[in-house]
Amino acid sequence: MKIKLSTYTGINQKYQFHNFIEGKSNQLALYVSYRFTNNLKNFYNLLFLYGKSGLGKTHLLHAIGNKILIEDYRKKVIYVHSENFIQNMINSLKNNSIEKFKNYYRSIDVLLIDDIQFFSNKKRSQEELFNTLNTLFEKRQKIVITANCYPSYISGINECLKSRFKWGLTISINPPELNTRINILLHKALENKINLTYEIAKFIARKSYSNVRELEGILKKIHIASLFNKEKITIHLAKKILNKLMKYKKKNIDILSIQKTVSKYFNITISDMISKKRSQSIVQSRQIAMTLIKKLTKYSLSDIGIAFGKKNHTTVLYACKKINQFKKQKKQIYYDFLYLFNQLNS
Ligand code: ADP
Ligand code: MG
Repeated sequence: MKIKLSTYTGINQKYQFHNFIEGKSNQLALYVSYRFTNNLKNFYNLLFLYGKSGLGKTHLLHAIGNKILIEDYRKKVIYVHSENFIQNMINSLKNNSIEKFKNYYRSIDVLLIDDIQFFSNKKRSQEELFNTLNTLFEKRQKIVITANCYPSYISGINECLKSRFKWGLTISINPPELNTRINILLHKALENKINLTYEIAKFIARKSYSNVRELEGILKKIHIASLFNKEKITIHLAKKILNKLMKYKKKNIDILSIQKTVSKYFNITISDMISKKRSQSIVQSRQIAMTLIKKLTKYSLSDIGIAFGKKNHTTVLYACKKINQFKKQKKQIYYDFLYLFNQLNS
Protein backbone atom coordinates (compact mmCIF):
# COMPACT_ATOMS: atom_id res chain seq x y z
CA MET A 1 0.00 0.00 0.00
CA LYS A 2 1.31 3.39 -0.91
CA ILE A 3 1.21 5.78 2.00
CA LYS A 4 0.36 9.37 1.42
CA LEU A 5 2.56 11.61 3.47
CA SER A 6 1.28 15.02 4.48
CA THR A 7 2.72 17.67 2.25
CA TYR A 8 3.29 20.37 4.81
CA THR A 9 5.87 18.56 6.88
CA GLY A 10 8.99 19.33 4.87
CA ILE A 11 10.29 15.90 5.86
CA ASN A 12 12.94 14.52 3.55
CA GLN A 13 11.90 11.00 2.69
CA LYS A 14 15.35 9.85 1.70
CA TYR A 15 16.41 9.86 5.34
CA GLN A 16 15.11 6.70 6.95
CA PHE A 17 16.23 4.55 9.85
CA HIS A 18 17.10 1.68 7.55
CA ASN A 19 19.75 3.69 5.73
CA PHE A 20 21.37 5.01 8.86
CA ILE A 21 24.49 2.99 9.59
CA GLU A 22 24.93 2.05 13.18
CA GLY A 23 28.21 2.17 15.08
CA LYS A 24 29.42 2.79 18.60
CA SER A 25 29.41 6.52 17.96
CA ASN A 26 25.70 6.82 17.16
CA GLN A 27 24.20 3.65 18.62
CA LEU A 28 22.50 5.28 21.55
CA ALA A 29 21.11 8.17 19.50
CA LEU A 30 19.74 5.71 16.96
CA TYR A 31 18.22 3.47 19.62
CA VAL A 32 16.59 6.32 21.46
CA SER A 33 15.25 7.93 18.27
CA TYR A 34 13.73 4.63 17.23
CA ARG A 35 12.21 4.04 20.66
CA PHE A 36 10.79 7.53 20.51
CA THR A 37 8.78 6.63 17.42
CA ASN A 38 7.68 3.28 18.84
CA ASN A 39 6.53 4.54 22.11
CA LEU A 40 5.28 8.05 21.51
CA LYS A 41 2.84 8.09 24.38
CA ASN A 42 5.12 6.97 27.12
CA PHE A 43 8.35 8.45 25.95
CA TYR A 44 9.98 11.58 27.31
CA ASN A 45 8.29 14.67 25.89
CA LEU A 46 11.53 16.12 24.69
CA LEU A 47 14.42 14.45 22.99
CA PHE A 48 17.54 16.57 22.47
CA LEU A 49 20.14 15.20 20.03
CA TYR A 50 23.45 16.99 19.84
CA GLY A 51 26.78 16.58 18.09
CA LYS A 52 29.11 18.22 15.63
CA SER A 53 28.15 18.98 12.07
CA GLY A 54 27.83 16.15 9.54
CA LEU A 55 27.25 13.33 12.02
CA GLY A 56 23.66 12.47 11.16
CA LYS A 57 21.45 14.64 13.39
CA THR A 58 19.24 15.88 10.56
CA HIS A 59 19.11 12.36 9.15
CA LEU A 60 17.76 11.00 12.44
CA LEU A 61 15.30 13.85 12.79
CA HIS A 62 13.81 13.10 9.37
CA ALA A 63 13.89 9.36 10.07
CA ILE A 64 11.80 9.96 13.18
CA GLY A 65 9.29 12.07 11.24
CA ASN A 66 9.10 9.58 8.39
CA LYS A 67 8.49 6.61 10.60
CA ILE A 68 5.76 8.30 12.62
CA LEU A 69 4.00 9.37 9.43
CA ILE A 70 4.35 6.02 7.75
CA GLU A 71 2.67 4.40 10.72
CA ASP A 72 -0.04 7.00 11.00
CA TYR A 73 -0.27 9.59 8.26
CA ARG A 74 -2.92 11.54 10.18
CA LYS A 75 -0.34 12.58 12.74
CA LYS A 76 0.68 16.15 12.33
CA VAL A 77 4.45 16.01 12.29
CA ILE A 78 6.37 19.15 11.48
CA TYR A 79 10.03 19.32 10.60
CA VAL A 80 11.39 22.83 10.76
CA HIS A 81 14.89 24.17 10.55
CA SER A 82 15.44 26.83 13.21
CA GLU A 83 16.22 29.44 10.57
CA ASN A 84 12.84 28.83 8.95
CA PHE A 85 11.04 28.99 12.25
CA ILE A 86 12.64 32.35 12.93
CA GLN A 87 11.98 33.63 9.42
CA ASN A 88 8.33 32.50 9.55
CA MET A 89 7.91 34.24 12.81
CA ILE A 90 9.38 37.49 11.54
CA ASN A 91 7.14 37.35 8.46
CA SER A 92 4.07 36.68 10.57
CA LEU A 93 4.89 39.63 12.76
CA LYS A 94 5.22 41.82 9.68
CA ASN A 95 1.93 40.56 8.22
CA ASN A 96 0.03 40.77 11.45
CA SER A 97 -0.52 37.04 11.34
CA ILE A 98 1.38 36.05 14.43
CA GLU A 99 -1.73 34.43 15.93
CA LYS A 100 -1.96 32.16 12.93
CA PHE A 101 1.72 31.31 13.31
CA LYS A 102 1.25 30.51 16.98
CA ASN A 103 -1.78 28.35 16.37
CA TYR A 104 -0.07 26.49 13.61
CA TYR A 105 2.87 25.45 15.75
CA ARG A 106 0.67 24.72 18.71
CA SER A 107 -1.67 22.42 16.86
CA ILE A 108 0.80 19.70 16.03
CA ASP A 109 1.55 16.27 17.44
CA VAL A 110 5.28 16.12 16.95
CA LEU A 111 7.60 19.05 16.39
CA LEU A 112 11.06 18.38 14.99
CA ILE A 113 13.35 21.40 15.24
CA ASP A 114 16.76 21.27 13.62
CA ASP A 115 19.89 23.22 14.61
CA ILE A 116 18.55 25.05 17.62
CA GLN A 117 21.83 26.97 17.95
CA PHE A 118 20.48 29.29 15.23
CA PHE A 119 18.29 30.85 17.92
CA SER A 120 21.41 32.20 19.52
CA ASN A 121 21.07 35.95 20.31
CA LYS A 122 17.54 36.09 18.85
CA LYS A 123 15.60 37.15 21.91
CA ARG A 124 12.16 37.54 20.44
CA SER A 125 12.32 34.22 18.60
CA GLN A 126 13.50 32.50 21.76
CA GLU A 127 10.48 33.86 23.62
CA GLU A 128 8.16 32.51 20.97
CA LEU A 129 9.93 29.17 20.95
CA PHE A 130 9.72 28.97 24.73
CA ASN A 131 5.96 29.63 24.65
CA THR A 132 5.44 27.14 21.87
CA LEU A 133 7.38 24.46 23.73
CA ASN A 134 5.43 25.12 26.90
CA THR A 135 2.10 24.79 25.13
CA LEU A 136 3.21 21.56 23.49
CA PHE A 137 4.44 20.20 26.81
CA GLU A 138 1.16 21.02 28.48
CA LYS A 139 -0.66 19.09 25.82
CA ARG A 140 1.85 16.28 26.27
CA GLN A 141 2.94 16.54 22.68
CA LYS A 142 6.37 15.52 21.55
CA ILE A 143 9.38 17.50 20.52
CA VAL A 144 12.75 16.50 19.11
CA ILE A 145 15.48 19.11 18.93
CA THR A 146 18.98 18.96 17.46
CA ALA A 147 21.94 21.19 18.22
CA ASN A 148 25.65 21.34 17.57
CA CYS A 149 26.45 21.02 21.28
CA TYR A 150 25.06 20.25 24.72
CA PRO A 151 22.44 22.83 25.82
CA SER A 152 24.67 24.47 28.45
CA TYR A 153 27.27 25.31 25.83
CA ILE A 154 25.01 27.01 23.30
CA SER A 155 25.85 30.66 23.60
CA GLY A 156 23.27 33.44 23.46
CA ILE A 157 20.33 31.28 24.53
CA ASN A 158 18.40 32.25 27.62
CA GLU A 159 18.68 30.10 30.71
CA CYS A 160 14.99 29.16 30.84
CA LEU A 161 15.19 27.66 27.39
CA LYS A 162 18.43 25.88 28.22
CA SER A 163 16.96 24.33 31.32
CA ARG A 164 13.91 23.28 29.29
CA PHE A 165 16.26 21.49 26.90
CA LYS A 166 18.24 19.86 29.68
CA TRP A 167 15.05 18.65 31.28
CA GLY A 168 14.49 16.44 28.22
CA LEU A 169 16.48 13.39 27.29
CA THR A 170 19.83 14.65 25.96
CA ILE A 171 21.83 12.28 23.78
CA SER A 172 25.08 12.90 21.93
CA ILE A 173 26.16 11.68 18.51
CA ASN A 174 29.91 11.24 18.20
CA PRO A 175 32.26 11.04 15.23
CA PRO A 176 32.19 7.54 13.72
CA GLU A 177 35.12 5.26 14.41
CA LEU A 178 36.99 3.51 11.61
CA ASN A 179 34.70 0.51 11.20
CA THR A 180 31.58 2.62 11.04
CA ARG A 181 33.24 4.89 8.49
CA ILE A 182 34.02 1.85 6.35
CA ASN A 183 30.44 0.59 6.65
CA ILE A 184 29.02 3.99 5.77
CA LEU A 185 31.22 4.19 2.67
CA LEU A 186 30.21 0.70 1.56
CA HIS A 187 26.56 1.45 2.18
CA LYS A 188 26.64 4.75 0.28
CA ALA A 189 28.47 3.05 -2.58
CA LEU A 190 25.84 0.35 -2.79
CA GLU A 191 23.04 2.90 -2.59
CA ASN A 192 24.51 4.85 -5.48
CA LYS A 193 25.62 1.84 -7.50
CA ILE A 194 29.28 2.69 -7.10
CA ASN A 195 31.73 -0.16 -7.34
CA LEU A 196 33.82 0.07 -4.18
CA THR A 197 35.78 -2.76 -2.64
CA TYR A 198 36.22 -3.24 1.07
CA GLU A 199 39.95 -2.56 0.75
CA ILE A 200 39.41 0.80 -0.92
CA ALA A 201 36.65 1.75 1.52
CA LYS A 202 39.09 0.99 4.33
CA PHE A 203 41.80 3.05 2.66
CA ILE A 204 39.49 6.07 2.31
CA ALA A 205 38.08 5.68 5.82
CA ARG A 206 41.61 5.57 7.26
CA LYS A 207 42.67 8.73 5.47
CA SER A 208 39.55 10.70 6.06
CA TYR A 209 38.30 12.03 9.22
CA SER A 210 35.35 11.94 11.39
CA ASN A 211 32.57 13.63 9.47
CA VAL A 212 30.05 11.60 7.48
CA ARG A 213 29.12 14.47 5.17
CA GLU A 214 32.76 14.83 4.22
CA LEU A 215 33.08 11.10 3.71
CA GLU A 216 30.14 11.21 1.30
CA GLY A 217 31.75 14.13 -0.52
CA ILE A 218 34.99 12.23 -0.96
CA LEU A 219 33.17 9.18 -2.32
CA LYS A 220 31.28 11.35 -4.81
CA LYS A 221 34.49 12.98 -6.01
CA ILE A 222 36.22 9.64 -6.46
CA HIS A 223 33.18 8.29 -8.31
CA ILE A 224 33.03 11.27 -10.67
CA ALA A 225 36.77 11.02 -11.33
CA SER A 226 36.42 7.33 -12.18
CA LEU A 227 33.54 8.04 -14.58
CA PHE A 228 35.38 10.93 -16.15
CA ASN A 229 38.62 9.00 -16.65
CA LYS A 230 36.71 5.85 -17.58
CA GLU A 231 38.72 3.87 -15.06
CA LYS A 232 37.81 1.65 -12.14
CA ILE A 233 38.00 2.96 -8.61
CA THR A 234 41.43 1.90 -7.40
CA ILE A 235 43.54 2.77 -4.36
CA HIS A 236 45.67 4.83 -6.73
CA LEU A 237 42.69 6.93 -7.86
CA ALA A 238 41.42 7.32 -4.29
CA LYS A 239 44.87 8.45 -3.19
CA LYS A 240 45.05 11.04 -5.96
CA ILE A 241 41.70 12.57 -5.02
CA LEU A 242 42.42 12.51 -1.30
CA ASN A 243 45.76 14.23 -1.83
CA LYS A 244 44.07 16.95 -3.84
CA LEU A 245 41.48 17.45 -1.11
CA MET A 246 44.16 17.60 1.57
CA LYS A 247 45.94 20.34 -0.34
CA TYR A 248 42.72 22.26 -0.64
CA LYS A 249 42.12 21.91 3.06
CA LYS A 250 45.61 23.08 3.83
CA LYS A 251 44.77 26.56 2.60
CA ASN A 252 42.10 27.13 5.20
CA ILE A 253 43.95 26.64 8.46
CA ASP A 254 46.32 29.28 9.71
CA ILE A 255 49.31 29.11 12.01
CA LEU A 256 47.81 31.10 14.84
CA SER A 257 44.70 28.96 15.12
CA ILE A 258 46.84 25.84 15.42
CA GLN A 259 49.07 27.48 18.02
CA LYS A 260 45.97 28.52 19.95
CA THR A 261 44.41 25.05 19.84
CA VAL A 262 47.59 23.35 20.98
CA SER A 263 48.40 25.79 23.77
CA LYS A 264 44.84 25.54 25.05
CA TYR A 265 45.03 21.74 24.99
CA PHE A 266 48.27 21.71 26.99
CA ASN A 267 47.23 24.59 29.17
CA ILE A 268 50.19 26.82 28.35
CA THR A 269 50.25 30.34 26.87
CA ILE A 270 51.12 31.15 23.27
CA SER A 271 54.00 33.30 24.49
CA ASP A 272 55.43 30.23 26.26
CA MET A 273 55.00 28.26 23.11
CA ILE A 274 56.97 30.71 20.99
CA SER A 275 59.51 31.48 23.74
CA LYS A 276 62.92 29.92 24.24
CA LYS A 277 61.76 28.03 27.35
CA ARG A 278 62.97 24.42 27.47
CA SER A 279 60.79 22.69 30.05
CA GLN A 280 59.62 19.33 28.74
CA SER A 281 55.93 20.17 28.54
CA ILE A 282 56.55 23.39 26.65
CA VAL A 283 59.04 21.79 24.27
CA GLN A 284 56.67 18.93 23.49
CA SER A 285 53.67 21.11 22.87
CA ARG A 286 55.82 23.34 20.66
CA GLN A 287 56.94 20.29 18.70
CA ILE A 288 53.36 19.16 18.29
CA ALA A 289 52.23 22.58 17.09
CA MET A 290 55.12 22.81 14.61
CA THR A 291 54.38 19.36 13.19
CA LEU A 292 50.66 20.07 12.94
CA ILE A 293 51.36 23.26 11.02
CA LYS A 294 53.71 21.40 8.69
CA LYS A 295 51.11 18.72 8.04
CA LEU A 296 48.05 20.92 7.81
CA THR A 297 49.24 24.07 6.07
CA LYS A 298 51.37 25.02 3.11
CA TYR A 299 53.91 26.99 5.12
CA SER A 300 57.57 26.13 4.64
CA LEU A 301 59.87 25.01 7.44
CA SER A 302 61.43 28.47 7.65
CA ASP A 303 58.03 30.21 7.74
CA ILE A 304 57.04 27.96 10.61
CA GLY A 305 60.32 28.62 12.44
CA ILE A 306 59.73 32.36 12.16
CA ALA A 307 56.22 31.99 13.61
CA PHE A 308 57.74 30.38 16.69
CA GLY A 309 59.91 33.28 17.80
CA LYS A 310 62.31 33.25 14.87
CA LYS A 311 63.55 29.72 15.29
CA ASN A 312 65.67 28.02 12.67
CA HIS A 313 64.04 25.75 10.07
CA THR A 314 66.12 22.83 11.39
CA THR A 315 64.29 23.13 14.73
CA VAL A 316 61.00 22.57 12.90
CA LEU A 317 62.42 19.62 11.02
CA TYR A 318 63.67 18.18 14.30
CA ALA A 319 60.17 18.63 15.81
CA CYS A 320 58.59 16.62 12.96
CA LYS A 321 61.18 13.86 13.41
CA LYS A 322 60.56 13.80 17.14
CA ILE A 323 56.80 13.31 16.68
CA ASN A 324 57.53 10.48 14.30
CA GLN A 325 59.76 8.89 16.93
CA PHE A 326 57.01 9.19 19.53
CA LYS A 327 54.73 7.43 17.08
CA LYS A 328 57.12 4.50 16.75
CA GLN A 329 57.56 4.35 20.51
CA LYS A 330 53.75 4.51 20.92
CA LYS A 331 54.17 7.32 23.46
CA GLN A 332 51.15 9.12 24.90
CA ILE A 333 52.41 12.38 23.43
CA TYR A 334 51.88 10.94 19.95
CA TYR A 335 48.24 10.17 20.78
CA ASP A 336 47.80 13.75 21.96
CA PHE A 337 49.19 14.82 18.60
CA LEU A 338 46.79 12.50 16.77
CA TYR A 339 43.83 13.80 18.72
CA LEU A 340 44.70 17.39 17.86
CA PHE A 341 45.35 16.47 14.23
CA ASN A 342 41.88 14.95 13.93
CA GLN A 343 40.28 17.83 15.73
CA LEU A 344 41.89 20.45 13.46
CA ASN A 345 41.26 18.39 10.39
CA SER A 346 37.56 17.68 10.87
P1 ADP B 1 24.13 16.82 10.72
O1 ADP B 1 22.69 17.20 10.70
O2 ADP B 1 24.55 16.19 12.00
O3 ADP B 1 25.03 17.95 10.33
P2 ADP B 1 23.35 15.11 8.54
O4 ADP B 1 22.24 14.37 9.17
O5 ADP B 1 22.99 16.19 7.59
O6 ADP B 1 24.35 15.67 9.64
O7 ADP B 1 24.31 14.05 7.83
C1 ADP B 1 25.19 14.41 6.80
C2 ADP B 1 25.16 13.33 5.73
O8 ADP B 1 25.72 12.17 6.25
C3 ADP B 1 23.75 12.99 5.29
O9 ADP B 1 23.74 12.73 3.92
C4 ADP B 1 23.42 11.74 6.07
O10 ADP B 1 22.53 10.91 5.38
C5 ADP B 1 24.79 11.09 6.19
N1 ADP B 1 24.93 10.31 7.42
C6 ADP B 1 25.28 10.75 8.63
N2 ADP B 1 25.37 9.75 9.51
C7 ADP B 1 25.07 8.63 8.82
C8 ADP B 1 24.99 7.25 9.17
N3 ADP B 1 25.24 6.83 10.41
N4 ADP B 1 24.65 6.38 8.19
C9 ADP B 1 24.41 6.78 6.94
N5 ADP B 1 24.48 8.06 6.55
C10 ADP B 1 24.79 8.98 7.48
MG1 MG C 1 21.90 19.05 10.22
